[in-house]
Amino acid sequence: MIFKSLLPDIEIPAMGIYQYVTSNPNGISDDKVIFTDGITDKKLTYGELKSNSKKLAAGLIDKAGFKRGDVLAIISPNQVDYAIVSFGTIVAGGIVTFVNPMYTVDELTYQLKDSGAKYIIAFPLLLSNVIKAAAAANIHESNIFLFGDAEINGIKPYSSLISEKEANPIEYSQEEAKSTTAYLCYSSGTTGKTKGVETTHYNIVANLSQIYAHEDDVNSDAIYLGLLPFFHIYGLSCIIHFPIIKGASVIVIPKYELSTFCRIIQDYSINRITVVPPIILSLVKDPIVKNYDLSSLLVCLCAAAPLSKELSDEFAKIYNVPIIQGYGLTEASPATHLAKIDNIVPGSVGNLISNLESKILSEDGKELGVDQPGELCVRGPNIMKGYLNNKEATDACIDGEGWLHTGDIVTVDKFGNFYLIDRAKELIKYKGFQVPPAELESILLTHTSIADAAVIGVYSEEHATEYPTAYVKLQPNVPQSDQLKKEIEDFIAQKVANYKRLRGGVLFIDQIPKSTSGKILRRSLRDRIKTEHPFY
Ligand code: AMP
Repeated sequence: MIFKSLLPDIEIPAMGIYQYVTSNPNGISDDKVIFTDGITDKKLTYGELKSNSKKLAAGLIDKAGFKRGDVLAIISPNQVDYAIVSFGTIVAGGIVTFVNPMYTVDELTYQLKDSGAKYIIAFPLLLSNVIKAAAAANIHESNIFLFGDAEINGIKPYSSLISEKEANPIEYSQEEAKSTTAYLCYSSGTTGKTKGVETTHYNIVANLSQIYAHEDDVNSDAIYLGLLPFFHIYGLSCIIHFPIIKGASVIVIPKYELSTFCRIIQDYSINRITVVPPIILSLVKDPIVKNYDLSSLLVCLCAAAPLSKELSDEFAKIYNVPIIQGYGLTEASPATHLAKIDNIVPGSVGNLISNLESKILSEDGKELGVDQPGELCVRGPNIMKGYLNNKEATDACIDGEGWLHTGDIVTVDKFGNFYLIDRAKELIKYKGFQVPPAELESILLTHTSIADAAVIGVYSEEHATEYPTAYVKLQPNVPQSDQLKKEIEDFIAQKVANYKRLRGGVLFIDQIPKSTSGKILRRSLRDRIKTEHPFY
C-alpha cells in the first residue's frame, strides 16, 4: 500500500537555493537583524548577509580563482558569518561541504579528500589540525581562509576575499537545479562509512517549500535559538535557511551548555527552539532550569533521534509548550515527516509532508498496511541525487523506482501519523550525531589485541540517547581484563571525534555472529546485549 501526503501537492519554484532563500515573502527590510551571536552580541542584518555573500562570491572568483562546480569546505562551529560563507560559495556556483569541527585530523582528511574540496574556510582555533588535513588532501595553504578578522601564520581571513563589487547569483532553470549539486553533507546512510550526500539546489528548494507549506504559523516575529550544528542538514535547514526565508531572527550559540542555553532563551526572549531529545530531557530533569525564565517559549521542534511519548508529555506539562516532532534524514534534505501544531500526537513523528509518498516494507519486501511495522521507504522531490562517486551505495539505497530505503522501522496509523519504532540500519546516533559503526570497527581491527569487532548502540533511558558499545573478540592468547577494556576505549578515543567514543564500553565475546556472506548479525548482538549490559 502506498501512503500519500495528506496535504495538497505544492509547486516547486524553479530556482536556485540563494534565490529561494532570499525571496523575502514577508517583505522584511534590509535592516532587520537575522543572526545575532548569543555570546558576543555581534549582529548580521539581512542586507549585510545578502551583500557580503555576493561580495564574497566575487572575491572567490576574482581573487582566489574559484570556478563553477568547485568544492569549498566550511570547518567551523556555529557563528554569525557561517551563512555568508555558505551563500557566497553558492552564489559563485560552487558546492559547499560542511565539516564537523569536532573532527580529528584523520576524519578531516577523509572528508576533504572524498569531497574533492579545493578551498577551506575554517575557524581559527582549528587551524593547526586544518593545515595538517589540508596538506594530506593536497589543498594549498593559499586556498585556506579563516573566520574572524585576523591573519594567523600567513593564513588570511576570509574577509580579505570580500570584493568591492557584488557577483550576480547564478540562475538555474528547473532542470539545471535538479542536476546541480549544491551541498555535500556526510552521512553513513544504512551501512558502511560516511559518504558525501549530493543534495541539489532543487532538493533544498523543494524541501524548504514543503516545510514552508507545513509550518505556516511561523512569521518574522519568530526568534530561534541557533544551537543545532550548522554543518548538519537539520541545522542548515531549520536554523539558517528557514528563518531567513521567513525573515525571522536567530540567536547563534557555538555549543551546548544548559545554563547558557537557558540564559539565552531568557535574555533574547527566544520563542522557538529546535532540539534533540537529550536537551528535552535536561529541560525536564535538571534543576538548573528553574533559575531562568523560559516563559517566552512558544514552540519546540524535536527531531534527529527518538523522543518518547512520556518525555514529550512531561515537557508539555511543565512548560505548556507543544513539541512538534519531525523526522528526516540527510539523504532527504532532510525532512519527510512533521507534526502539525494543531494536530500533535505525542510519540508520533507526524505526517508525510507535501509532495511525498511512502511505503512500508516487510523484511521480504512486501508492501504493508496500517499498523504493520516495516522499513520506511519515501519518494519525492527532496530525495538526494545520490552518494558522491559511489554508485554502488546509491543503488543500494535508492531503488529503480526512486524509493529511498531509509533503514528505519515505522508504523503508520489510520490517520496518517507515523511512529518510529526501531532502526534496522547499522547507524548509531549519540545525542543526534551520527556514529557509523563500520568506522569504529575498522579502527578496532587495527588494535594488535583484537581479532574481530562489532559496534552497536545501547539505549540509555537516563540520558535519552544511544551509547556506542563494542563487542570485541580478542586474538588467541590475549587474556581478558578490565584494563584491556579501558585500553581499547582509550585507543578509540584518541582516533575519533569526542561524540564517537565508546561510551557504552567494551564487552568481550568469543565469536562475532555473522551471516554466511560475512555480514555482522547486529540484531543478534542487540538481543544479546540486553542480557549483559548494565543499562538494561
Ligand atoms: P541524519 O541523516 O543524521 O539526519 O540521521 C537520520 C536518522 O536519524 C534517521 O534515519 C533516523 O534513524 C534518525 N531520526 C531522525 N529523526 C528521528 C526521529 N524523530 N525519531 C527517531 N529517529 C529519528
